[in-house]
Amino acid sequence: DDTRKPYLPDEAATLALGAALAQAVRPGLVVFLEGDLGAGKTTLTRGMLRALGYAGRVKSPTYTLVEPYTLSNLYLYHFDLYRFHDPLEWEDAGFRDYFNPQSVCLIEWADKAEGLLPSPDLLIRLAPEGQGRRAEIVAATPLGTECLARLAL
Ligand code: ADP
Ligand code: MG
Repeated sequence: DDTRKPYLPDEAATLALGAALAQAVRPGLVVFLEGDLGAGKTTLTRGMLRALGYAGRVKSPTYTLVEPYTLSNLYLYHFDLYRFHDPLEWEDAGFRDYFNPQSVCLIEWADKAEGLLPSPDLLIRLAPEGQGRRAEIVAATPLGTECLARLAL
């Protein structure tokens, strides 16, 4: 199946989903993280990074647009495009080069850079439900489907 919809009752569950994703992703994967402010997109990213061995601080790169992480076996780029508005900046900053077969790219607010981004392999939507969040994980390419099949939930 190409869609999973786990319920995340609390922040720990969001971090745990991130940890599960960390084991399932492979270099080259492009993931769009969708949901309103406060939905848990950065929390999910933090869970992934922690599980990949990153011990430092993880906060959304709201002003720098992207935060690069060099991990033991892959490069991870975390984009927050909430404040992105100038397509010329995309080229100037060399963002295109971040999307390569060696890197995993996680993108918050991908719709702000429509037409500049490659199409996603995975879409992860987070929405409030009860006291927690409902995640919807959709595979959009064969690479995404393989990732979803590895995802231990
Ligand atoms: P975003 O990046 O989508 O704007 P953040 O991850 O920065 O959101 O913030 C999400 C907020 O919601 C944090 O305060 C976090 O503790 C909380 N949170 C994350 N996941 C859950 C969950 N499953 N249930 C309840 N609260 C959550
Ligand atoms: Mg965020």
